[in-house]
Amino acid sequence: MTLTLTSPVTALRGVGAQKAAALAKAGIYTIMDLVRHYPRAYQNRSDIISVAEAALICRTQESVPPAAFILTVAGEPKVSMIRRGMTLLKFKAFDESGMLEVTYFNQPFLKDVFHTGGVFRFFGRPALGAGRVQLNSPIHELYSPEIPLPPIVPVYPLSQGLSQKLMQSLVREALKVAATELFDHIPRPLLEEKGICTLSYALRNIHLPNDTDALETAKKRLAFDEMFLLSLAMSSQKKKREADGAPIFSDRDVSPLLSCMPFELTGAQKRAVSDISSDVAKTTPMCRILCGDVGSGKTAVAAAALYMAAKNGYQAALMAPTEILAKQHYADLTELFGKLRMNVALLCGSMTAANKKKVRESLASKDGPKIVVGTHALLSDGVDFYNLGLVITDEQHRFGVNQRAALKGKSKGCHSLVMSATPIPRTLSLVMFGDLDVSRLDEMPPGRQKVGTFCVDESYRARLLGFIRKQRDEGHRTYIVCPAIEEAPKKAEDPEEMANLLLIPDLYDSEPPLKAAVQYAEELSKTLPDLRIGFIHGKLKAPEKDRVMEAFVKGELDVLVSTTVIEVGVNVPEATLMVVENAERFGLSQLHQLRGRVGRGRAKSYCILVSDSKNEVSKRRLDIMCKTNDGFKVAEEDLRLRGPGDFFAKGGEFRQHGGIEMPFSSSISDTSVAEAAVETALAIIKEDPDLSSPRHALLSHIVSSMYESSKDTIS
Ligand code: ADP
Ligand code: MG
Repeated sequence: MTLTLTSPVTALRGVGAQKAAALAKAGIYTIMDLVRHYPRAYQNRSDIISVAEAALICRTQESVPPAAFILTVAGEPKVSMIRRGMTLLKFKAFDESGMLEVTYFNQPFLKDVFHTGGVFRFFGRPALGAGRVQLNSPIHELYSPEIPLPPIVPVYPLSQGLSQKLMQSLVREALKVAATELFDHIPRPLLEEKGICTLSYALRNIHLPNDTDALETAKKRLAFDEMFLLSLAMSSQKKKREADGAPIFSDRDVSPLLSCMPFELTGAQKRAVSDISSDVAKTTPMCRILCGDVGSGKTAVAAAALYMAAKNGYQAALMAPTEILAKQHYADLTELFGKLRMNVALLCGSMTAANKKKVRESLASKDGPKIVVGTHALLSDGVDFYNLGLVITDEQHRFGVNQRAALKGKSKGCHSLVMSATPIPRTLSLVMFGDLDVSRLDEMPPGRQKVGTFCVDESYRARLLGFIRKQRDEGHRTYIVCPAIEEAPKKAEDPEEMANLLLIPDLYDSEPPLKAAVQYAEELSKTLPDLRIGFIHGKLKAPEKDRVMEAFVKGELDVLVSTTVIEVGVNVPEATLMVVENAERFGLSQLHQLRGRVGRGRAKSYCILVSDSKNEVSKRRLDIMCKTNDGFKVAEEDLRLRGPGDFFAKGGEFRQHGGIEMPFSSSISDTSVAEAAVETALAIIKEDPDLSSPRHALLSHIVSSMYESSKDTIS
């Protein structure tokens, strides 16, 4: 039987029921799953160092990285019993520069492997002991110049019952199948034009790269794929929606509404309203994203759109991510539209069943209210609108899943506007949303105060404490954000584990230790005993979180120490100081969101970024925060300095877009890959909008299965 990519893993030699079960735990069922089971790190065993070099490194460096050696065994290994049931195997080995000692714990059987004169490649962390370089339990491979060893060795995520060796050999077998069975979903000429390698090259080299260049080329292709497919999926979804059509709102004069607002629209708001106005003048449904910082006045723009729909006899819905926000919108809009004698309805979970039923019934009738506000969930199921013409989704900071949901389901045949508080650079908005139209509120309403932003290091600690006390003395409150919940456990000491960290520089001793919210709050309570200090983090139970948050809102706490859970949706006008610890750990856009939590009242507000990082890029990034309060500038600069990776990384702004993880995009620092991905996607969509050409059959299949697999996650 010939193997194909969809063959089960049990078709491979050596994989029985037990191993298949272990593989299943890691999510691996087929040969293709093996090919797509990417290493989580790599060991570069090609940089061979000499014993003399190792001695020098051990003497001069505080932390010694793992290294590779080619050594000849100098004498037969000796096995000794060091404690009951524990053995130590020892032998000396040498190269032309000197001799070192190799030891293994509890592996007495290795005495049959190492014999005098045998040559091995060792990989481990050298250390000094008894005046000599030692290697404790290094990885060993028999070395012979005729049969080259792989220079870079993949390290796989494992589940119980799997070993690195097993994974390596299974993946090797799977790659042989892929070499003949795999088709590239991107036409070759397009790849060549963008300087992107083929899929088969990428998959081979993501597992078994010959050098770091090949590995980078492979990662680039896989990152390209993630962004390309997302962009394509979003664009093709838009094309599908366009076919549904939408009602024309012919009367688009919003001046009666504007005259009821207590302010004049900013230039940016006017531009957004006019973008919307020209969208709804057509039978092609509007697919627009409205991006603007917190406080930029998105609600007024939304109100104008709701007004256009209602005025033309169509129903319009505004969906908010939380009930609190829905109620806030409802209160604002009821007041505004009340002046025009237009009714607004509210539909949310905490209402009685009878009330909900009443609202649902009124929305199904011809004479019911034209404007309704509710939470995403409530509006997406169970409501039969009489004639819904517009759906507005307020996303706050969340992208993705909901945004996609907003584009289907209830908004079928409707105009759609999505509001987002994340300033997003143009290139990335094309990745996230394809060719959706974007309006940007890049101008704040007048009179908004700037939050004074400063970057300080540990030497400022005492003054910082004084400043926190001063805020309290003036009747204000302080937020302190820490990157971790509890202090990190000691770093792995296992040599293999340490070796694995080698190629993930972020994890390897590169930055100052993390401040942790829980310990931090305890210590702060000791240093500032007269202040009332609380803490909050994502692992607290919801009622406890609410209790602490409420205490802070009410002014029963002076200081709130937290992880980033406060990012979404809290409004405490009395908070005037935002302190961010280990600021180098946060993406700039995230820092910007955090800063947006203060400066909401009348008092002058401050954001203090504490960082001891010596890294130049980190320093430059934090400097940008001090120089500008404009979220779009912050985001563009972040993209320029760190590349798109951060936006897709864990804790980044756009993580889990539509339930799709983007591991490779999160590791690239080169913006040109994102640009190439977007250009390629747009070129394909332009030429073949519904991907119906036979050339795009595989692509079409992949794109539609992206929707299938993310369906369940849509709320
Ligand atoms: P967001 O974009 O965060 O949703 P909002 O729509 O809630 O912002 O607006 C924030 C505040 O700014 C509100 O109090 C609103 O009344 C006010 N506002 C909005 N637009 C203007 C404007 N053009 N001039 C003055 N104030 C405005
Ligand atoms: Mg808002």
